[in-house]
Amino acid sequence: MNVASDGDMVRRVARVRAVIEAAAVRCGRDPSTITLVAASKGASRAQIDAARRAGLTVFGENRVQEAYEKFDPPGSDDDRRRRGEVHLIGPLQTNKVKRAVGFFDLIHSVDRLALAEAIQREAARRSMTQAVLVQVNIGAEATKHGVLPDATSSLVEAVRSLPNVSLLGLMAIPPVADDPERARPWFSRLRQLAVSLKLPRLSMGMSSDFEVAIEEGASWIRIGSALFGHRR
Ligand SMILES: *Cc1c(COP(=O)(O)O)cnc(C)c1O
Repeated sequence: MNVASDGDMVRRVARVRAVIEAAAVRCGRDPSTITLVAASKGASRAQIDAARRAGLTVFGENRVQEAYEKFDPPGSDDDRRRRGEVHLIGPLQTNKVKRAVGFFDLIHSVDRLALAEAIQREAARRSMTQAVLVQVNIGAEATKHGVLPDATSSLVEAVRSLPNVSLLGLMAIPPVADDPERARPWFSRLRQLAVSLKLPRLSMGMSSDFEVAIEEGASWIRIGSALFGHRR
């Protein structure tokens, strides 16, 4: 066991949790309504185990294959407790849907109807319901995944009609900025869009801007480098 890295992880988790608490208190929110998703892309199994020992229970992976290599499939209730939740936070290709459905507790990146329909077919085949978020390209950037803001309402309505897909909210990655305050208008816009669609829960905020995201109503924050160190 690597005692030094365990202590390091414990300190990092404590620091992030303290910032979450403070941000929540500042804007009158209950900190327990904010879920810390540890963005573990590039982190090893050993680092993920250290994160578990430090109390983290929800992990977010970007790629289906990498998630399969690092996390066991959900099995018995006992296994599930040890595994925690595993979310897909990166883009999903339609040809990976069969492996993603049922493996991920929440898919954050549904951005087109064909993908939602493929998830529906696989979930129905397994007699289960797959929880998803619709990813919005909130800054309408050419290089980003996500449905455009103007097209979000029709995608949301279509996803809502799928019986084996449970739509919990919206996700976005705002345009990159060096000052977290510059992310605020995008977070606020995502919240307004979600409210207008009666979808109150939002996945937004990363290591550099999660305090602002919490102030703007984030339910899930996806934190990588602040927990696992700088981008690998
Ligand atoms: C890597 C990643 C994160 C975490 O980013 P950090 O800046 O390292 O906190 C969050 N969301 C997605 C989709 C990511 O790919």
